[in-house]
Amino acid sequence: MNREGLDYFYKVIEGVEKVFRSNTDLANIIVQNIERIVNRLVENLGQDLKIKIMNFCGTHEWTVTHFGLRSLVPQNIELIAGPGCPVCVTPSYYIEEVLRLALDGVVVYTYGDTYRLRTIKPVKGVRSLSEARSLGADVKVVTGLVEAIADSKKHGKDSIFIGIGFETIASGYAKAILSNAIPNNLKLMSLVKLTPPAMRYTLDIHRQELPVKGVIAPGHVSTIVGAKAWQQISEEFKIPIVISGFEPIDVMISILKILKQLSEGIYGTVIEYKRAVTWNGDEVAQKMINEIFDVVDDAWRGIGFIPKSGLRLKQKFKSFDAFEEFKIKELEKSDWIYDLSPGCRCADIILGKALPTNCPLFMKVCTPSTPVGPCMVSIEGTCSIWAKHGGKIAIEIAKDLSINIG
Ligand code: SF4
Repeated sequence: MNREGLDYFYKVIEGVEKVFRSNTDLANIIVQNIERIVNRLVENLGQDLKIKIMNFCGTHEWTVTHFGLRSLVPQNIELIAGPGCPVCVTPSYYIEEVLRLALDGVVVYTYGDTYRLRTIKPVKGVRSLSEARSLGADVKVVTGLVEAIADSKKHGKDSIFIGIGFETIASGYAKAILSNAIPNNLKLMSLVKLTPPAMRYTLDIHRQELPVKGVIAPGHVSTIVGAKAWQQISEEFKIPIVISGFEPIDVMISILKILKQLSEGIYGTVIEYKRAVTWNGDEVAQKMINEIFDVVDDAWRGIGFIPKSGLRLKQKFKSFDAFEEFKIKELEKSDWIYDLSPGCRCADIILGKALPTNCPLFMKVCTPSTPVGPCMVSIEGTCSIWAKHGGKIAIEIAKDLSINIG
């Protein structure tokens, strides 16, 4: 980027900062409007009214927790996290398979949080890529596929890139393959997960008990899939879905937009994050993803198979595929086993059925420096976010203020 481009970029950042982060006046107005609508709903529906609003992105949970947004909304609103952390839901089995390869001399490229992910079964005595590295395996932490491509070209050894993420990351993988940028010695292990099927699955679980009344939909994923991806879910569950940006005021506006729809008795998908998301999304990226990947029923850690929720490389692109090259067997439904450590409630937390504080191990045995479950490892994991930005202190403060956060 040239100097002019950089200046423009910083101006935009400054503008976003002023409008969406450091804007106390606007924040006050939003909070007052939220209270007004909730009071009206309580008048009509009673004091016991609970409005469950779920987010589907670890970064939204970070914003809610880091900025203490739960303390700004009335007690009738319950803000809960849903499946928003791809590392948390990657089955232990696939990491065990990569551990085998790493210990057999294959170079492994991984994101930082996957590096510390613990498996349920040990492989030759180790249970994470970081432990494998301490035994001499060549495990390299990278920021993404581009870095892995550059590095693997230098040494030419058999290598694998662990491709964990949601739709946002898939278009980058597709572009690399279509432009033939990946060297022969590097293979992609696609473990990409799809968000809309996970949202449908999660909302369905809540339908049995206290249904989710509104959704804060993921902004990053929506830049690719577009707002249209959520409309059908909104109609099926008759709930408002608001695609939100990531600054605190973005999230507060999204909560207000959900409440407005609820008070008017309407539902639909709307975009709050207009500076990045369109109705149709990135159609070029969608086309590339469809060209490269097949949609498959995929396993989610601790949860099991969710229909049509994963992406694997199409037969035509098998020469890029780590599953093919290294003869990694796909996890079949009949082989799936519950893959969380005893006591770990990560699956319930991912599905919004429990809070980190409901886990007996939270901040006792399981901490950011001694993670037991995947939700404490990834920066997008709810347990990790609560431990670093909420945890005990926030809970004690909330209790003092009679705010119920679990
Ligand atoms: Fe699992 Fe640790 Fe979270 Fe408990 S605190 S649910 S053990 S990740």
